[in-house]
Amino acid sequence: MQICSSKNILCCLITCSLILNLLLLVNVSLRSRSWENSWTRDAMEEAEAVASIHCSGNGRAFLDGVISADHGRPVCECNACYGGSDCTQLLPDCQVDADSGDPTFLEPFWVKNAGSSAVVISGWHRMSYEFSDGSLISEELKKHIETVHAITGNAITQGKHIIFGPGATFLLHAAVHSLSHQHSASASLSNVVASIPYYPVYKEQTEFFKAEDYKFSGDSAKWKEDNDYLKTSSNIIELVTSPNNPDGRLRKAVLEGPSVKKVHDLAYYWPHFTPIPEPADEDLMIFTLSKLTGHAGSRFGWAIVKDEAVYRKMLTYIELTAFGVSRETQLRVLKLLKVLLHNGNGKEMSEFGHNIMRSRWMKLSQTMSQSTRFSIQQLEPQYCSFFHQLRTPYPAFAWVKCEREEDRDCYQVLKNLNITGRAGSLFGTENRYVRLSLVKSQHDFDLLLRQLNKIVSEERDDVTVMPSISSAVRENT
Ligand code: PMP
Repeated sequence: MQICSSKNILCCLITCSLILNLLLLVNVSLRSRSWENSWTRDAMEEAEAVASIHCSGNGRAFLDGVISADHGRPVCECNACYGGSDCTQLLPDCQVDADSGDPTFLEPFWVKNAGSSAVVISGWHRMSYEFSDGSLISEELKKHIETVHAITGNAITQGKHIIFGPGATFLLHAAVHSLSHQHSASASLSNVVASIPYYPVYKEQTEFFKAEDYKFSGDSAKWKEDNDYLKTSSNIIELVTSPNNPDGRLRKAVLEGPSVKKVHDLAYYWPHFTPIPEPADEDLMIFTLSKLTGHAGSRFGWAIVKDEAVYRKMLTYIELTAFGVSRETQLRVLKLLKVLLHNGNGKEMSEFGHNIMRSRWMKLSQTMSQSTRFSIQQLEPQYCSFFHQLRTPYPAFAWVKCEREEDRDCYQVLKNLNITGRAGSLFGTENRYVRLSLVKSQHDFDLLLRQLNKIVSEERDDVTVMPSISSAVRENT
C-alpha cells in the first residue's frame, strides 16, 4: 500500500478547500437569489390557491371574488343554470342565456397556457400617469399589435397611427366624435349611418350622447338607394362592420363621396371567425382584444388611423376622457400577445378558436336543418390568406329567422321556449329575426344546443301528428 507523501496531502487539502469554498459560494448565491425573488412567492401562492378551489367543473373562483364566510376563501362563481357552494346543483327550468357576445369560448386556450400567460404586477408597476417618453401607450405593445396584424394579414398598419382605448366601444365614440369635428364649422350636423342589420351600440351610443355635432340617421343602404347623401349638405359618417354583427357577413362601405367619412369596425376580422381574403387598408379601423383573445374584461381596443388630424383629435378625446388605458391592462395585453405570437405565430390560437367555432356551427346547422320553423344565415366559403386554404366563416352569432307567418316576434317565441337571444328590432330590422350568441363558454353552448334540439324534435313530433299549414304546403310542392 502506498503511503501519501506530504506533498500529496497538501495538494489534497487545497483541492478539498477549493471544492468546499465553491459549494459555499453556490449556496450563498442560490440563497440570495431566492431571497431576491421571494416577493413574488406570496402572489404566486395566492393565485395557485384560488385556481385550485374546486367548483365541480361548473364554475370558477377568482382572486377578487366575494370571500366565503364559511371558509374565508373566494366563493365559486357558478356557470349559468348551476348553483350551490361548489356549483353542483342544476337549477330547474333555467332560461338559456344566448344574449351577450361574451367571448369566453377561448378560456380553455388560456387555461392550457396558464404558465406562459400569467403576469405578476408589482405594487410599484408604472405608477406614473405617463410612460417615460411622455406617451400613454407602451411602444412594445404597439409593436406587438403591428406584428399580430402583419402575421395575420388582416390589416395594414404601415404609415398609420395606432391609438389605444379602453375597448372598441369607447373608440367607436372617439372616432365618431373626432370625424364630426373634422368638418368645417359651417357644416351642419353629421349623419351617423350603418347598414341594417347593424350593431345596436352604434345607434344607442350616438343617441345617448345627444351631441350637437352628429345624430344617428339610420340605414346606409337606404341613403344610397335614395341618393340622399348626394343631396344633403351635411356630412356622413358610415359605420361599417366586417364581419357584421349580427350576421357575420364581410361588408364594404356602401356610400362614397367627399362628404362621407368611414369607420371600419373590424372587431371580428380574425381567422377564428372568418376567412381573411385580404388585409384591410381603410382610413379608420377599430379592433378589440375582446374578440381576438377573448379578454373582454380587460377592456382594451385599438384604432388604426391614416389621417394625422383625425388621429390628433382622437388622442385629445382619449386624453380628456380617460387619460389613456391602464398600464396594468397594457402589461397584460402585451403578455397575451406574446403567448399568441410564440405559439406558431398566432396559428395555434387561431386554429384552437376556429375548431371550437366550427364544431359549434356543425352541430347548430345539423339541428337547424331539421327545422322548418327556424332558419339560420348561410355563408359561403372564401379563400383565407392566413390559413392558405378555402375556409367557411364561423361567425360569433347565429342570425335566426322565425319562418312561420304567425311567429312575427321571434325573440318572444324563443323566450317562451326558454332561450333568451337579442331581438332583431335592436339591429334595425324586423323582430322576425333574433341573434343567438355562439361565443360563450362550452357549457353555455351545450345548454343552448340541448334546448334547440328539444324544440326542434318537438316541432318534428308536432308535424308528424298535425302538419302546420306552411310545412304541409312545402311537402306538396
Ligand atoms: N364592435 C362590435 C361589432 C362588437 O360586436 C363589439 C362587442 N360586442 C364591440 C365593437 C365592442 O367591443 P369592446 O368589448 O372592445 O368594447
